[in-house]
Amino acid sequence: MVAEAIDRNSGLYDPELEAMSADRRRAYHAERLRAVVKYAYDHSPHFRRRMEHAGLTPAAITQIHDLARLPVLKKSTLPQLQKQDPPFGGLLAAPLSEVSRIFQSPGPLYEPEGRRPDYWRMTRAFYAGGFRPGDLVQVTFAYHLSPGGWMCDGGLRALGCVVVPGGVGNTELQAQCLRDLRVMGYVGTAAFLSTLITKAEEMGCNVLEDLCLRVASVSGAMMAESMRHMMADRYRLTIRQIYAIGDLGLVGYECQKASGMHIADDLILQIVDPQSGIELEIGQPGEVVVTVFDHLYPLIRFGTGDLSAVTTEPCRCGRTSARLTRIMGRVDEVTKIKGMFVHPRQVDEVVAAFPEVLRYQVVVRLKGHDDQMAYLVELASGVKPEPLLTKLRDKTRELLKITANVEVVPPGTIVEGAKKILDERRWD
Ligand SMILES: [Zn+2]
Repeated sequence: MVAEAIDRNSGLYDPELEAMSADRRRAYHAERLRAVVKYAYDHSPHFRRRMEHAGLTPAAITQIHDLARLPVLKKSTLPQLQKQDPPFGGLLAAPLSEVSRIFQSPGPLYEPEGRRPDYWRMTRAFYAGGFRPGDLVQVTFAYHLSPGGWMCDGGLRALGCVVVPGGVGNTELQAQCLRDLRVMGYVGTAAFLSTLITKAEEMGCNVLEDLCLRVASVSGAMMAESMRHMMADRYRLTIRQIYAIGDLGLVGYECQKASGMHIADDLILQIVDPQSGIELEIGQPGEVVVTVFDHLYPLIRFGTGDLSAVTTEPCRCGRTSARLTRIMGRVDEVTKIKGMFVHPRQVDEVVAAFPEVLRYQVVVRLKGHDDQMAYLVELASGVKPEPLLTKLRDKTRELLKITANVEVVPPGTIVEGAKKILDERRWD
């Protein structure tokens, strides 16, 4: 194959927004917030009712911190709202004729797409992931009913890429497309990328010589870092992750540095306590709550149900937005321990570095009024408890910011399929 002449690693798609100073970003967000609140209040019956319930008028929301006065609109309530007042529960702030497509997600939840090009604001994410104008890109998200395929399709075409709308399945035909068309970019899940490459190899392709794949943008589920490294080492394929939601479009995206997902510039993202809606300190995990400035479907203080945390450490790519450290799972799976939200996946993360631990379970108990967190661990035969238990305790404190007891239990105590976090607290 011809040597790669394109620079896929540097540059910003929209330097004016992506490299804003913190002050400029705050002012930009506040200005757009005021405009969308006023617009939604005048045009979305549901939003006006929400504001009235909270005793607010648009004049009450002029800065980002004022959003705290408006209760979070939980994504899980949308299907019911839409059912009561179809098709969009009074959230649409424009005539239906301004909608170009309507998608359906499980719920059922209906999501409108507006008419402007790259309606979902995806382009910058693909650019940050190394996609460039003229690239041939195969999109393997569904194009039927659910929004994934079209969302990516619109962003890529706006960037100047040539799209092969592969959709879901048809593995052999899709592998053939990759080879025959010399496709350079892949968009879809990490799992299907792996399936597709395996299929191409089964068909006799040498991935490095017969295929031209250079960049992949994956979404849908968090990817294991081992997969990213394997694809880079074995196939010289750069994989970057995108976090997008059917109702909102792009929320976050990895840059070439791949250390967390930059928050999209044209929205306000807050990490809040999923129960109280109060914004949490930087670094603490909580629910991702987003406000978009969209005049068609203005979702304001929209609780995504996703659990994540934010870092404001500068990124060497030049983008100045904060980054989501990772998506940790769904808010409805978390347990609050000593005031911190803990997700089963975080529990896994603590133990991942200790292969001597065969099985484990976190048990939360109440001692007086205090939460007690204990890791129950079953160890491989012959493993001495120390210094392992001390290390586990330290790791728990480092990753979860909670001091836990670690208790060794006999093999077989933790049954197959047991809950990762067993909450034994009773308040009655
Ligand atoms: Zn970056």
